[in-house]
Amino acid sequence: MIPFYKLERYEGNEALFELVMMSIVASLVGEPLHIHAEGLRGTGKTTIMRAAKGILPNITRIKGCVYNCDPAAPHCPHHRNMSPNEISNLGTEEIPMPFLEISHSAKVGTVAGSVDLARLTDISHPEAQLLPGLIPQAHRGIIFIDEINRLADTSPEITDILLDVMGNKPGHIQIEEAGLPVVDVTVSVSVWAASNPDEDPGPVEEIRRQLSDRFDMVCYMGRPNSVDILSQMLKENSHQWKAQAKEREAAVEEGKNEVFRSNIVKWAGQYEKADLPDFLRNYIARLYIKHNLESIRAIEAMQSGAILHSIIKGRDKVAINDVTHMIPLVLKHRVDSDTMVRMINDVDSKGVKDGILSFKNRKKNDKEADPDYFPHNATPLKDIRRSDLVNTEKSLTPNEG
Ligand SMILES: [Zn+2]
Repeated sequence: MIPFYKLERYEGNEALFELVMMSIVASLVGEPLHIHAEGLRGTGKTTIMRAAKGILPNITRIKGCVYNCDPAAPHCPHHRNMSPNEISNLGTEEIPMPFLEISHSAKVGTVAGSVDLARLTDISHPEAQLLPGLIPQAHRGIIFIDEINRLADTSPEITDILLDVMGNKPGHIQIEEAGLPVVDVTVSVSVWAASNPDEDPGPVEEIRRQLSDRFDMVCYMGRPNSVDILSQMLKENSHQWKAQAKEREAAVEEGKNEVFRSNIVKWAGQYEKADLPDFLRNYIARLYIKHNLESIRAIEAMQSGAILHSIIKGRDKVAINDVTHMIPLVLKHRVDSDTMVRMINDVDSKGVKDGILSFKNRKKNDKEADPDYFPHNATPLKDIRRSDLVNTEKSLTPNEG
C-alpha cells in the first residue's frame, strides 16, 4: 500500500485528504467527525482512507481494556464504577488510535458484541461474559465502512446501530446477548464511509436518508485529469516499483508519517481552544434561515468544519473562506443542487449589498465583525453617469475633440 504522504494529490481528491485529517484531529479531542467519500471506481477514495491508518496518533488507555477506557473517564462495564485509586493501580498503556473496518456482509454480533466463547468454554473457569464488537473496540478512533450503500441496503439492523452511534456526540451502543444483561456503553467513534452512488443500490441518501444526514461531510471525488499525475500513479502501481519501494522507503515512510502524527497532536491542542468569531456564526445562522435548511447537524458541521479547516491550513483565525469551503461538503447530501448553487452564488458574486454577507445589522463597535474587505468609499463604475465620464475625459484632454 502506498503511504499516506506519497499518495498523489490533485484538485479532485484534495478535499478528502483534508477531511481525513480534520476527522482524526476531532477524534483525538473526543469529538467524532463522520465523513463520507462518494465517487466512481478508481478515484482512490478507499485508498486514501485506509492509508490514513499510517498517520494515526497514539491514545492512552487503561492497561488491557478492550473498550479503550480513558483513564481519566472510564466508561466500560469493568472500569466505570472503580475509584480513581483502583484505576491508577491498573496502569496505563499507549496504543495507536483504533481503525477498524466493517464489511458490508458483517453480522450484528461482530459489530456490536457477542458472548465471549473462549471464556465460556474455559475448562477451569467457565464464565459468560460479553466480548465487545468492532464499534465499542473502536472507541476514541475510526470505524471504516466501504460500500456503505450496500450495507444500508442489506443490513437494516447494522444501519440502526450506526444511527445510534452517530446520533449524538458521543453516541452509544447496546450489546445484547440472550441470557446476559444488556450492556449500554458510550462510544465516541468517527465513522468513515465510501460508496459509489452510480453502482447498485444507488446513493445512500436514497436508501436511508437518516443515515446519509448523519455524515457531517460528504465529498464527491473527481478523477485525476493531468497526464503527469496519471503517469506518476501508474509508475507507483507497477510491480517493479512496488518491490523496490519496500526496502527503499520503510525508514523514510515512518519519518514522514511521524510528521503528520505530531502535526495532528499539535492541531488537536489548538482545536480544543479554538472558536468561531461571532460574525461567522451569525453568517452560518443566516444561511440556515435564508435557505430554509432543515438540518441543524448541517450547520453544526459547518461550524466545526470551518474551525478545523483553518487549523490544518495553519491559520490562527477562522476566515469566511473556511466557512464557504465547507458549504458543498456539508450540504451536498442534504439539499438539492439548485439550492446549493444559489447559496454558492450568494456568497461568490452577489456583491455586498444584497448578498448574505451583508453586515448592515451588525453593531459598529464589534471590531472583529468589521472587516475591511469591502471598502465603500469608491463609486462603482456602473453608478457613474455617462456624461460624467465624457466630461472627465474632456476636462483631462482639453485640446482634443
Ligand atoms: Zn475499561
